[in-house]
Amino acid sequence: MFPSPNHGDRRGHAPSLVVLHFTQMRDAAAARARLCDPAAQVSAHWLIAEDGTTEQLVCETRRAWHAGAGRWQGHDDINSRSIGIELANPGDRPFPAPQMTALRRLLRAIMTRWTIPPTNVIAHSDMAPGRKIDPGPRLDWEGLSRDDLALFARPDPSDPAPPLPASLDALGYPDDPARLQAFRLRHRPWATGPETDADRRTAARLLRCANTPGGSRLRDGGGAPS
Ligand SMILES: [Zn+2]
Repeated sequence: MFPSPNHGDRRGHAPSLVVLHFTQMRDAAAARARLCDPAAQVSAHWLIAEDGTTEQLVCETRRAWHAGAGRWQGHDDINSRSIGIELANPGDRPFPAPQMTALRRLLRAIMTRWTIPPTNVIAHSDMAPGRKIDPGPRLDWEGLSRDDLALFARPDPSDPAPPLPASLDALGYPDDPARLQAFRLRHRPWATGPETDADRRTAARLLRCANTPGGSRLRDGGGAPS
């Protein structure tokens, strides 16, 4: 038995996505209390504390209540299709190394258990643009991609820059006016202002990575890992 009562039936779906969150609370203990409070009506399958302590709050075969309204790859009801991981972080600071080590270990186990590819490890902000900003601009997606645990890409200036909407559609982003911001939050968090060729190149390269087996490692021109 796991400590959170906040879960339900998966409605016929098996987990095919992992959604990463930050808790936006003072510390892991406060987050744990809320994620296990029946009155709060929220939960996640896993909570990783700042020091890397990893606790399962909901059985992975059950539908935890972490994602809320949103879409990814044309699907709604993301809760039924996903496993949610909460990283204890108030939202205004880096993720400590022991926490990232624990995240990598947990992702590896979940992705093996449910045969989930790196392309299907997403940010809460990816599926709920404009509504959610977590896990925020400080999460090291590039580091995760180096371990084949998520998708990240740095384009070459010589890469083609096809229209952004088609790339974002194909990557899975919902049709939402805030999706450029959501895309940047994860892939180009320093970018501001109107859409640029760098956005278009990054999205196109991500798409090529997504469509290449082992492609989460494709970067810097597709050469050998540095
Ligand atoms: Zn979240």
